[in-house]
Amino acid sequence: MNYDRQSRVWRVRETDHCLFHLEPPVHEDPDVATVVDGADSRYLRIRELLGYPPMSVKEREIRLRLNYWLYAPSAIADADMPPGARRFAEGAGSPAGIVYGQRGFRWTECVDALEHETIHVLWGAKVGEAPSLLNEGVAVYFGARLSDLRDLPDLSDSSDAPPPTGTAWQRNYHAAWQQAITSGARSLRDFCTIAGFWGTQRPGQGPSPAEPYRIGGALVGYLVETRGLPLLEEIFLNSHYRDDHLAPTLERLTGTTIEELSTEVGAHWAYRAASATSDSRSSPDTPSAPSSRSTSLAVGALRPVSISDTRD
Ligand SMILES: [Zn+2]
Repeated sequence: MNYDRQSRVWRVRETDHCLFHLEPPVHEDPDVATVVDGADSRYLRIRELLGYPPMSVKEREIRLRLNYWLYAPSAIADADMPPGARRFAEGAGSPAGIVYGQRGFRWTECVDALEHETIHVLWGAKVGEAPSLLNEGVAVYFGARLSDLRDLPDLSDSSDAPPPTGTAWQRNYHAAWQQAITSGARSLRDFCTIAGFWGTQRPGQGPSPAEPYRIGGALVGYLVETRGLPLLEEIFLNSHYRDDHLAPTLERLTGTTIEELSTEVGAHWAYRAASATSDSRSSPDTPSAPSSRSTSLAVGALRPVSISDTRD
């Protein structure tokens, strides 16, 4: 998809914290009105999850609004569609905000994916980027946490509630780690590089494997749950998207070798996946459409200034 914004005409919708740029006829879609109406509460929940302090009066005076550009379906040309796909969506986050285009979905089906991109942007506004393993890990892990919070009856109590365990996404992290890392098939050191994370995958071409996203989510979740958010922020502040030295940086800042980390992350998710309050909810651990047959995700690994995710 061509993300040019300058040559297009936009209709604007404003909320307290967000600025939506809607390419006609998207502005007339009642489904979009629902997405816009929920934007502020999602924005505030994501901020809270990422460790931002509650929004004070002073903060409201300072904080710039978050931009969203929602493209018309015509922005996705036939040639942009993966072979055989009936529908396709692509989003990206950058310091400018979030661009999102989709063809064949309802806009309310895109909320998980919009949250995923919003997490990229709000996290990036704090500490910038790191290689894809951690970028995607943050978006996937906190996206899953967000879906857990959404399922709680009273959001105002959410910060005091113990996090649920044994959920679908936790079991997925456990399974992915076992299959990829514990089995010896791949090494965590390998996933730390852009090339190792993406392999032969290119954005928007065929179904992209969910495994690297889950490995990233599992690593980030382990770091947050056992070492704390400030350490994760420190790792990002000492890295960047094109950083070829993520593995040694992880070792230095965690005080743990990659091999030891691999064991500890595996043990963490084995424990979390099996814990007492097991349930059978199908919490999404990746941005997905509820009815999509096989969610596929890809990120614009070669795109220099934004993080992009696609699905079909
Ligand atoms: Zn992403």
